Amino acid sequence: MFYKSTRNSAINVDSATAITQGISVEGGLFVPNEIPKITLEEIDMLADMNYSERATFIFKKYLTDFTDVEIKYCTDNAYNTDNFENESIIELSHLFDGTYMLELWHGPTCAFKDMALQILPYFLTTSAKKINLNKKIVILVATSGDTGKAALEGFKDIEGTQILVFYPENGVSPMQKRQMTTQDGENVDVCAINGNFDDCQNGVKEILTDNDIKAKLEEEALIFSSANSINWGRLVPQIVYYVSAYVTLAKDKEIELGEKINVVVPTGNFGNILAAYYSKKMGLPINKLICASNVNNVLTDFINTGVYDRNREFYATSSPSMDILISSNLERLLYHFTGDNDKQISEWFASLSSTGRYEVTDDVKKILQDEFFAGFSDDEQTKDTIRAIYNQYSYTCDTHTAVAVKVYNDYKNKTNDKTKTIIASTASPYKFSASVLEAIDKGSEVSDEYEMIERLNELSKFEIPESLAELKNKKVKYTNSIEKAEMKGYVLKELGISY
Ligand SMILES: *Cc1c(COP(=O)(O)O)cnc(C)c1O
Repeated sequence: MFYKSTRNSAINVDSATAITQGISVEGGLFVPNEIPKITLEEIDMLADMNYSERATFIFKKYLTDFTDVEIKYCTDNAYNTDNFENESIIELSHLFDGTYMLELWHGPTCAFKDMALQILPYFLTTSAKKINLNKKIVILVATSGDTGKAALEGFKDIEGTQILVFYPENGVSPMQKRQMTTQDGENVDVCAINGNFDDCQNGVKEILTDNDIKAKLEEEALIFSSANSINWGRLVPQIVYYVSAYVTLAKDKEIELGEKINVVVPTGNFGNILAAYYSKKMGLPINKLICASNVNNVLTDFINTGVYDRNREFYATSSPSMDILISSNLERLLYHFTGDNDKQISEWFASLSSTGRYEVTDDVKKILQDEFFAGFSDDEQTKDTIRAIYNQYSYTCDTHTAVAVKVYNDYKNKTNDKTKTIIASTASPYKFSASVLEAIDKGSEVSDEYEMIERLNELSKFEIPESLAELKNKKVKYTNSIEKAEMKGYVLKELGISY
């Protein structure tokens, strides 16, 4: 299997190179040159395996340049009970008739990003060895809150790596900020940007593709890579949990083997839902992919009109990890939808960066609407949804997951589709205690983050994650805050490079 760049189909690299580089030299994203298949027999066979073994099975189809021993080394180190709460790694919670919450947040940082970022450091260091890199890998991360912490946890003290995380100063929850600024590890750094997530992401992308900076790093035997979902090594682990959830539902006789299901995903950078799309293309029986946004609903409009237009107001919402106006992974989807048309993709994305807008062809729009349903939820509706689920099913969900539930309800009302459905639950409610309590504990006087956690514990059935409780006693180590224009200089300074 080879990986091509969405902006230059002539580029052909193995997975180790794609993962090490993170992004292609001309700014395109790596995609597999074909999507491997999974049969119903294989799905049936996976029923007897644990999560790590299921992951190994899927990775063998994509990382064909890795040996079995290498893949097993990665999965064993990532998907175990040192890192995750339970042996099952993910949890499926039966919410209501034919609807299941796929809880992806039982890892060390309480958000679904752990599913990929616990394994990415092993993929990356293994890849570097395979291609005889002999350089220290510098990971630059832009985060809307959850990726940053998950990447810091994944990479802390991993030999041969150094990690720098940029987050929007006022764009993350207090708990997310505290998680990052108290991070342990000798090879980590965290810095706030006076701007929003898109500023952070653009800044990082510019640095990653800056030839002057790259040359300077080269002299110091350093090389950049990315832990954002532009890196293929972030996406492929996300395919696993859709397959694994399906396997478990079939095993538990909740669905028939081969029965189609819907998948609802609260979406920001389009990584998680793209992984669901890949699993469908592999042959996992999926009917509709339901794309849920908050009021930063650029994706809802895009899927409904074929026009991607980021020229709109940016809102800070109660689901901050989805406060994004440039959804990077859409580029991969459109590459597949246009029949690998790298010229077309280059044009659209050049237009996105110069005018903030592009419009796809009618053909592409049609495929898009066949595969996806899109909708959004504002903060008030999100709050109402958290309250309704809590009152009806005694289930506490976080704000991002509630956005998905709201959009799923809209979908059902509109289509009357009775297909069984998985809703991706992307964060622990404890990570967004203030918003969750506002919904289910009206009139509460509690304002201290840790008291909120205690209160939420009284109301919900979930245990308090230790990693959040212990933050109270941790020292804040990182207080830097800079302008977007200062990012380049900051990175060089951190790496000890003069310029
Ligand atoms: C990152 C994140 C999302 C959005 O996922 P994408 O892959 O960027 O679409 C949704 N919910 C939570 C809690 C997240 O951390």
